[in-house]
This record gives sequence, C-alpha cells and structure tokens, in this order.
Amino acid sequence: MNPSSVAAQSAADLVLIGLAKRFGETLAVAGIDLTIPAGSYCCLLGPSGCGKTSTLRMIAGHESATEGDVLLGSRNITSLPAAQRGTAMMFQSYALFPHLSALDNVAFSLKMRGVDRVKRHTRATELLEMVDMGPYALRKPSELSGGQQQRVALARALITQPKVLLLDEPLSALDPFLRVRMRAELKRWQSELGLTFVHVTHSQEEALALSDQVVVMNAGRIEQTGSPREIFEAPATEFVARFMGGHNVITVAGELVSLRADRTLLARDGLPDAPGFAARVVSTEYQGTHVLIGLQSEHAGELTAMVREDPLLLVPYAPGDAVYVHWKSEDLHRLSTVPAPNH
Ligand code: ATP
Repeated sequence: MNPSSVAAQSAADLVLIGLAKRFGETLAVAGIDLTIPAGSYCCLLGPSGCGKTSTLRMIAGHESATEGDVLLGSRNITSLPAAQRGTAMMFQSYALFPHLSALDNVAFSLKMRGVDRVKRHTRATELLEMVDMGPYALRKPSELSGGQQQRVALARALITQPKVLLLDEPLSALDPFLRVRMRAELKRWQSELGLTFVHVTHSQEEALALSDQVVVMNAGRIEQTGSPREIFEAPATEFVARFMGGHNVITVAGELVSLRADRTLLARDGLPDAPGFAARVVSTEYQGTHVLIGLQSEHAGELTAMVREDPLLLVPYAPGDAVYVHWKSEDLHRLSTVPAPNH
C-alpha cells in the first residue's frame, strides 16, 4: 500500500486550548495550551501522575474534558465520540484480541463500522503488508513476537485512516533491545505516513530520540515545549533540568542556573580568576565512553561531572579527592523556578 494513501485527506494541526481535567478533588490537567503541528512527532513527557495519559485520553475522546477545547484543523472535536474525531489510539501490544488472527484484529474496527468482509480484509491485508506482517496474517497474537504484535497494533490503529495517532506508552512492554528497534520503526512509519503522532512516555531517552516536539509536563501543567535539542540544551525551569537529567542545578552570583554534567569542568587546584567552587569526589563510575564523577560540595550539594578518561591515568579522580568545579560562562543557562506564563 502506498503510505500516502493511509494518511487521511488533509493535514491538520492539533490544538489544545485551556484543556483541563478534574477528577473530584484532583486537578489532573490544569488548563493547558498546546499546538502540535500536522505531521509532527510529539512526545508528552513527564513523571508518573503529571497528567500525560489524561491529556491523551481527552484528545482521543476516551475521557471528557472538564474545561477547554480540542481542535483538529478547523474542527472542534472536544465533544465528538472517539470514532468521529479523526484520531486513533495505539495501545500496548497486549491490547490485541487474543482469540482473533492478526488479520481480524486489524480489520476489527471496520467490522464494527459495518464494512463488508471482503473489503475489510483487503484493507487489513494491505496494512499488514505495509508493516511487513503479510506472512503472519492468520496467526493469533500469542504466536507472534512482541515486536510483531506491536506492528499488528499499529496496522489496527491505522485502518480507520486517522489524522492523528495517539500512542500510550507503546514501547513499555518490550525488552530494552526490542524497544530501541521498535522506536526506530515508529519514527520511520511516522515520517513515511506523514501523520501526526502524539506519544506518551515517561522515558527522557525515548522522547529525545523520537520527537520533533517534546512537551514536558509536571503536576498537570506544561513546563516546557521545544525540540529535543532545545529542551536538553536549554531547560527553562529547575524541574526540566532535574527531570531530563545530565544537568547540575547550581547557584552562581545569586542566580539559579543549569550546567550540563559534560560541561562541568574539574581541576585539582583552584584556577585563578575562574568562577567556581570546591567539592569532594564521592564516587566514580566507568561508563565506557566517559566516567561519571559524583561530587559533594558545601556550595551546591550533590553534583555530577561527566569526564573523558585520561589515557594515562584511566579514571582521573578517586573518591576523597579535593577538586575545584568550574565552567565556561556560555555553558550556564538561567533557570526559572516556575514555568513561563501561558503554560
Ligand atoms: P502515569 O505515567 O503514571 O500513567 P500520567 O502522567 O499519565 O501518569 P494521569 O494518568 O493523567 O498521569 O493522572 C493524572 C492525575 O489524575 C493523577 O493524580 C491520577 O491519580 C489522577 N487520575 C487519573 N485518572 C483518574 C481517575 N479515573 N479517577 C481519579 N483520579 C484519576
């Protein structure tokens, strides 16, 4: 099947306006504004309970919005039933019907819509071929590997020709090797199909690897939206810097700033005229391409420096060593303790 024929008629941005969800006393999503450009890969990233799944379910129509709107192109889809929105949800692989063949799993939603058997099997076969699962059409899910089940789940979600594919932790049931392989496949399918993918994850690595746009959420709010590079290189808030990892959060000249661990420089003696502070090495961890040095300092508490191995010394520092922590001024990024207004 030609991938472009899977994509629905016209591309459309997905826009959330003041979208909120309340469960009794809990404000799960606190009125978020977000535009996800048509044809982009967006990851909603954040710790457990931050409101990612509730947001996805409101987009899907599996949960009603307490306040706000969901627009898809020129249509306000906030109150439409799930099947009429132009969205489809891809669940984790185990959400396939165990008693149905791959073919019947993929054809299922067309059956529900009253499409005749020949037509729905033709479409399902085309989609299974697209995800390289043609030869497995008659197998049951239990006769397929995790990665193969994942492909069937994707074909099943695409059969309704959605404009937006919603993915809730789609890789979390897979082992680490398969996860990385299926991640690459998801990205390839997304760009070949030209569909909008909205993918919920709590994995920083997954979000950085897949996204055109990362949306970092915390306590029902959006902390920061940007490309993976923007989010990692210039975290806007203390929460984002700490959550993304690989950064130290320190106070320099009265300002809260982030400094990447791999830009955190160490010296054995104080450097004249270089701003910095004293610290003590508490741990060293060999990581193959670099060494992680754990530090404790009166000025900044716990820190991490990522340093290259010294070819002469191998691990250049040992626990107990006194060091001086410093940096290049261009590597400091000022942080806000609260998200920017509007998020
Ligand atoms: P996780 O990564 O653990 O799935 P999440 O970021 O997807 O978390 P949500 O599932 O959206 O978070 O939950 C946000 C908040 O809303 C949490 O405090 C959760 O306990 C609460 N919540 C979610 N669903 C319900 C529900 N059906 N009834 C009551 N509270 C709920």
